[in-house]
Amino acid sequence: MKRFSLAVHGGAGTILKSNLTPELEVAYHAGLRNALQAGYDILSQGGRAVDAVTAAVCALEDEPLFNSGRGAVYTSDGKQEMDAAIMDGATRAAGAVGGIFGPRNPILAARVVMETTDHVMLIGPNALRVAHDAGLPFEDGDYFFTQARWDALQSTLEMRAKGVEDDDPARRHGTVGAVACDADGNIAAATSTGGMTAKAPGRIGDTPIIGAGTFADNATCAVSGTGNGEVFIRYTAAAEIAARMRHAGQSLKEAAEHVVMHDLGENDGSGGLIAVDAKGNITMPFNCEGMYRGSVTEGDDFATHIYR
Ligand code: ASP
Repeated sequence: MKRFSLAVHGGAGTILKSNLTPELEVAYHAGLRNALQAGYDILSQGGRAVDAVTAAVCALEDEPLFNSGRGAVYTSDGKQEMDAAIMDGATRAAGAVGGIFGPRNPILAARVVMETTDHVMLIGPNALRVAHDAGLPFEDGDYFFTQARWDALQSTLEMRAKGVEDDDPARRHGTVGAVACDADGNIAAATSTGGMTAKAPGRIGDTPIIGAGTFADNATCAVSGTGNGEVFIRYTAAAEIAARMRHAGQSLKEAAEHVVMHDLGENDGSGGLIAVDAKGNITMPFNCEGMYRGSVTEGDDFATHIYR
C-alpha cells in the first residue's frame, strides 16, 4: 500500500492581512481543516480518492466563508449561478455542471452527471432535473445568502457605475477544490465555485471545464484551480500541467509551477492551484498574495496556510 495524500483549497487572491481579523483567520483555518478531515476519514479507511475529494468539497461548500455552495457570490443581476466539476483519474470519467442554482452541494450534482449520464457537462433545467431525480437535497435563496457576498456585489456594481474596475480579487472571486491520491495510487480532483462577483448572467468559468480548472488522470496528475477563470480556460491550465509531465518528463512541481508562474502569471491569470500525482506528491503554487490551502499525507499532521 502507498501513502495516501490530500490537498484542499478555498480560493486565491489578494488576501490582505488588514482585512482579515484574527477571528476570521481562525475560522478560515478551521474550515480548511474540516474539509481535510472529511477527506482523510475516507482515505484512512482505504476509501477511494474520488470519494475523498467529493467529501472534502462538500464540507467547503457548506462553509459560507468560501465562494461555493452556501456563500456563493452574486451575478450582476443579483443571482447565484454555480459551477462544479469532478474527475476520476483512474478511469478519466468526469462530470460537471454550469450555472446552476438549487442543489445544496453542486459537486454532488457534478458527480451525478458523471455517474448517471452519458455526458460530461449539463447546464440549465436538465442539470437540475438529473440532480433532483438522484435525490440530492435542494435549498432556496435564504440558505445560500450571505451578507458579505451581497455587500461585495453592491460595491462592485457601484464601482462599475463610476467606471472604476474592481481590482480586488479577494472581493471578486474565490473557489474551493480538493485533489487526492488514495492508497491504491488512484487520483481525483473536484472543484466548485460561485464564480466571480458581478459576473454576467450565463458566464461559465474554468471550474467546470475539464482541462482548465479541473483535471485528473492517474498517468500524470489531478489538478484543481482557482483564479481568473478566463485565463485558466485560454491557457488550458490543468491540461498543460499534465502535458508537461507526459511529454516533457517534468515533475508535478516543475510543471505546475511553470503554468502558474508563467502561462497564467504573465498573462493576467492571477490565481493558483493544488495538484497531486499518483505517487502522492502534492504541490500548491500560486502567483498572488495568498491562497487558502491545506494538505495532509498519511501519518502526518494537517497543515493549513493562507499566505506564503
Ligand atoms: N476560477 C473561478 C472562476 O473564474 C474563480 C476563482 O477561482 O476565484 O469562476
